[in-house]
Amino acid sequence: MSPNQTPDLIKKIYPSLIWEKKSQDELFLTFDDGPHPEVTPWILDLLDHYQAKATFFCVGENLAQFNQTAIDTVNRGHKLGNHTNHHENGWKTKTREYLKSIYECNELFTEIQRRKNELFRPPYGRIKRSQILELKSDYRIIMWSHLAGDFKKKLDVSKSIRMLKKTRPGSIIVFHDNEKSFENLKAILPACLEHWSSLNYKFSVIS
Ligand SMILES: [Zn+2]
Repeated sequence: MSPNQTPDLIKKIYPSLIWEKKSQDELFLTFDDGPHPEVTPWILDLLDHYQAKATFFCVGENLAQFNQTAIDTVNRGHKLGNHTNHHENGWKTKTREYLKSIYECNELFTEIQRRKNELFRPPYGRIKRSQILELKSDYRIIMWSHLAGDFKKKLDVSKSIRMLKKTRPGSIIVFHDNEKSFENLKAILPACLEHWSSLNYKFSVIS
């Protein structure tokens, strides 16, 4: 997947998934695949500079390993969401195993956030209808309207920035707090935050 905007058709096919939010003046930044002991703190410092809050979709095995980074994230006013325990691809995983992975990841959340977690994002955006049905009552399934593409090795960074400048109020944007995305992220995120701030956007957690 290159940097892209989610087509309206896809949003219509899966109306029970959340692709964007209704808002007058907010953007919803999200970071997937962390926490990471180096990348996540770098993002947190940058977000502080813009008084921005964001939602971090964490992988359980990283939460277990870098627990303190996740605690810092919450203490600095951000929100965590579930991204499975081992970053499973829903299309290739039996529904029972998929749910088990999500519930295992969730046990780690309760410790960190001291409250029930109700946000889930499927890794790769790949989730079966049977999995959606099972999860719908307990979770809000958060997709995205804009994908930065920061995980791509040969990303055209300026193209990604141009695409991200086309966000509108209520857009949900995906970045990654992992090692392979870090170089791209360092180029994209500061430029975008500067641009969005100049347009007076607020940056809110998904509530
Ligand atoms: Zn992911």
